[in-house]
Amino acid sequence: MSEQPRCRLCGDPMPAGEEMFFYHGYSGPCPKPPLPRLAQKIGLVAGVAIDEWKLPIFVRHLTQAGYGYTKHSGVTADTLLLKVECDSVEALEPVLRAANAEAAASKP
Ligand SMILES: [Zn+2]
Repeated sequence: MSEQPRCRLCGDPMPAGEEMFFYHGYSGPCPKPPLPRLAQKIGLVAGVAIDEWKLPIFVRHLTQAGYGYTKHSGVTADTLLLKVECDSVEALEPVLRAANAEAAASKP
């Protein structure tokens, strides 16, 4: 883990000596209100419709990029709907493009 430890309430980097804790102020409450970004992240879910055989490819790309998803029935029998939790659709799009490109290249 090379990522800088951050407070899970306010998102600010943890001060030196407090890196091992999840929240600011080990001896007291976090001084800051929760990040608006956190609320957005909970609310923003992108729907991605794919052919069923592409699922392993999309799952691998999404997982490697750190996205969480849920799987749902598609409109037709051989399609699926993935609901992907994301901060922004713009950030998610390159991941979907890469997965789709790989799927297109490996199409039977
Ligand atoms: Zn904090």
